[in-house]
Amino acid sequence: MFNKIVNQYKSLFGSSSIIRIHPSVDKGITPSSNHFSGGELKCHCHKNKVTVRITTQTAHNHVCGCSKCWKPEGVVFSQVAVVPSENLAVSSNGTKLQVIDENAAIKRFACQKCGVHMYGRIDNKEHPFFGLDFVHTELSTESGWAAPEFAAFVSSIIETGTDPKDMDVIRKQLNSLGLEPFDCLSPALMDVIAGHMLKSKK
Ligand SMILES: [Zn+2]
Ligand SMILES: [Zn+2]
Repeated sequence: MFNKIVNQYKSLFGSSSIIRIHPSVDKGITPSSNHFSGGELKCHCHKNKVTVRITTQTAHNHVCGCSKCWKPEGVVFSQVAVVPSENLAVSSNGTKLQVIDENAAIKRFACQKCGVHMYGRIDNKEHPFFGLDFVHTELSTESGWAAPEFAAFVSSIIETGTDPKDMDVIRKQLNSLGLEPFDCLSPALMDVIAGHMLKSKK
C-alpha cells in the first residue's frame, strides 16, 4: 500500500525524495466517524503510561509545521486538533507531566519520561482559543477521530531544518492529500482570531 502511494508521488512529481509528512496522513487519511465521542490518549512509555481521557470528537484537526507542536520521530509535521477543556481529563500517571515552556501562550503538558506532549492548555482568558485544549489523536488506539483538514504553518518547517528547495514538492504532496497548505492557520481560524481581536478592542 505505502509503496503504491510512493510510486504515485514519484510519477506525479518526478521526484524520488518523498517527504514523510506525518504517519496519520502518509498512508492515506482515514475519514472521520460521525458517531465518535472520544477516547484515550496514551504516552509512549512502556509502563506507567500517562493517559488522557477525551469525551468528545475533536475539531479543526490539521497537520502543523510550527516548531512548538510535538511531532513523532522522523516527520516534519505534527498533527493537532482541539477539544473543549471540560472534555479533557488526565486519567492516569499525571504526576509524570511537566509544562514544556511556562511562558508560551499554549502550555504544553509533556510526559517527562518519553517526551510526548499529552495536551496543550491556554491560561489567558483573552486568548482567542481560550477554553480549548490542543491534542494529538494519533496517541489513541481508537479509530474514528476527526480527520486532518488542512496544513498550517507550512513555511515554518524550514526553521526546523527542511531544505527550502523541497517546499514545492511538499506543498504539492499536501495538496494531493487534500490538506490545503497555509503559512499561518486556515482562513476559517484566522477569521476567528480577527473577530476576537475586534471584539476585545470594543
Ligand atoms: Zn511517557
Ligand atoms: Zn504547531
